[in-house]
Amino acid sequence: MSAPTIGKLNQQTQCIALGRVAPLNGTAKTASLPVYQASTILFDTVEELGQSQRDYAQGFESYSYGRKGTPSSLALCEALAALEGGHAAFIMSSGLAAISTALLSQVSAGDHILVVDSAYGPTRALCDGLLARMGVRSTYYDPLIGAGIADLIEENTRVIFMESPGSLTFELQDIPAICRVAAERGVVTILDNTWATPLFFKAFSHGVDIVIQAVTKYLGGHSDVLMGAVIANKNQHLKVRATAHGLGQFAGGDDVAMVLRGLRTLSVRLREHEKNALAIAQWFERQPQVERVLHPALLSHPQHDLWKRDFEGSSGLFGVVFKSEYSVKSVDKMLDGYHHFGIGYSWGGFESLALPVHADDLIKIRNHLKSTNSMVRYQIGLEHLDDLMADLASGLKKLD
Ligand SMILES: *Cc1c(COP(=O)(O)O)cnc(C)c1O
Repeated sequence: MSAPTIGKLNQQTQCIALGRVAPLNGTAKTASLPVYQASTILFDTVEELGQSQRDYAQGFESYSYGRKGTPSSLALCEALAALEGGHAAFIMSSGLAAISTALLSQVSAGDHILVVDSAYGPTRALCDGLLARMGVRSTYYDPLIGAGIADLIEENTRVIFMESPGSLTFELQDIPAICRVAAERGVVTILDNTWATPLFFKAFSHGVDIVIQAVTKYLGGHSDVLMGAVIANKNQHLKVRATAHGLGQFAGGDDVAMVLRGLRTLSVRLREHEKNALAIAQWFERQPQVERVLHPALLSHPQHDLWKRDFEGSSGLFGVVFKSEYSVKSVDKMLDGYHHFGIGYSWGGFESLALPVHADDLIKIRNHLKSTNSMVRYQIGLEHLDDLMADLASGLKKLD
């Protein structure tokens, strides 16, 4: 396509033709990429259009249509793949979309998958609902199973789905041991790496095949965007790509720009979340109202050794189990009274949150707490530690 002389055009056509290329041939450099709002990608010649299709067919990155990538969305994909240490990344509408896409890239009717018992609730709902309806059977395994997972692998087992730590109950899994068994038996491993982020757990170097990130959490980091990413190794990337693109998964230009912006401060934010969460977790451990604190970086965590061996850091999400004399009602009242801890789902943003985890949930996920006590999941945000501590201390005084 070559450019028309605008002045000679009908005004109606001018409305279409104007303002589509940055002045001065678009050569100004900016520190951040512009927001690309694109459905259609334009090619100068039919030959270039054809070349992009041939590149795609050969498995290369290429521009063809907005849904399959724009300059900024592919830049974000490249950044996520590099950070995680994978071969290629695909972004989509939510973390849950990333989980469903990763699973659907591997299974067919009649297949069997192994899913960790402590997995994120909606992951379980997907397995028990949509996947079951499609003829895929799920077996939930003990997060502490390690190499013992070999005994659960059946002839038609295609996937081991892991999440470590579990984002409600914080059990750690021996990921390298599970991945070694999976590789021997030809089973694909998928890890939900949202808690640790690519900075604190190097999933691919521990043997994982496919990583999912709820980008909504730390990568976005500002509680203003929903996005998910599937990052695959070289062997799995075309399967994941075919599924992501077949399902029509994509992320919009504004969201991509917000996540690229979030990424710039990921490392400094995480260190602050880590520092404050550890200080608060240690403080909770010393309080008489508290039975246990579920934080992998604490010496008291039953799988602390695995954390020390495999992780580069800890993030800002952990659990507190209160002593049995404190009723659900009394713990709920404490949460209602906080000033800095919002009551709500999600985490990984700048703000602190508290979420009650009631006994019903605990029984459902058959965890290792062996306890029906009240439990609260805390996300420690970027407020000053003193203010958070004061809020938590006055909360504890209200427990009865
Ligand atoms: C929040 C979360 C997800 C889902 O992410 P959304 O973007 O909210 O869909 C997946 N896994 C874990 C561990 C999460 O905490």
